[in-house]
Amino acid sequence: MSSKNLLIVLSGPSGVGKGTVVKQLLSTGNYALSVSCTTRKMREGEVEGKSYFFISKEKFLKDIENGGFLEYSEHFGNYYGTPKKFVEEQLLSRDVVLEIEVDGALQAKRSHPEAVLIMLLPPDEATLKERLKGRGTETEEEIEKRLKRAEYELSRKDEYDYCVVNDDLDECVKKLENLIKKLKLI
Ligand code: 5GP
Repeated sequence: MSSKNLLIVLSGPSGVGKGTVVKQLLSTGNYALSVSCTTRKMREGEVEGKSYFFISKEKFLKDIENGGFLEYSEHFGNYYGTPKKFVEEQLLSRDVVLEIEVDGALQAKRSHPEAVLIMLLPPDEATLKERLKGRGTETEEEIEKRLKRAEYELSRKDEYDYCVVNDDLDECVKKLENLIKKLKLI
């Protein structure tokens, strides 16, 4: 039976556990994870070229002009973008996962209608707030901004192809694995 390589776009509000889900999903198969470019400052523990490519605003704007991004967006005053060349090259041999926010994801769907948009949802809003506050990496003001943003992201869930609830990590990853397996055969 033949199968095709998928462009899998995962989004979800801050605090939904995207990072952990993506990490576990990647360990279940031969996926390429796209490393984004960003103009935001590096956080403690982040690694250049692994967490992001940390570049200047000037370089980012130049890359936009040169058509270097599959999608990009401005988010909390910083730019984030998916390097187009890496994704297109990887898609020739395997599935590619993008972990990006809603505006960029919808942009990616417009230029790549075959992309599969999946939104991770929190079990409920209270859990999301708790997770976000418990992270300890942001100030109160930043947490407030992220909560507002989370509301916005959730309000666009109907534009996604699939929504998967991240209640139990293993279950959530299993659901994603099964969904991807099915989609590869369509
Ligand atoms: P953070 O600053 O917390 O690392 O990321 C903020 C948001 O930017 C997250 O929702 C993350 O998924 C999103 N993001 C990361 N890389 C990209 C990208 O290449 N494009 C877009 N549109 N969003 C991204």
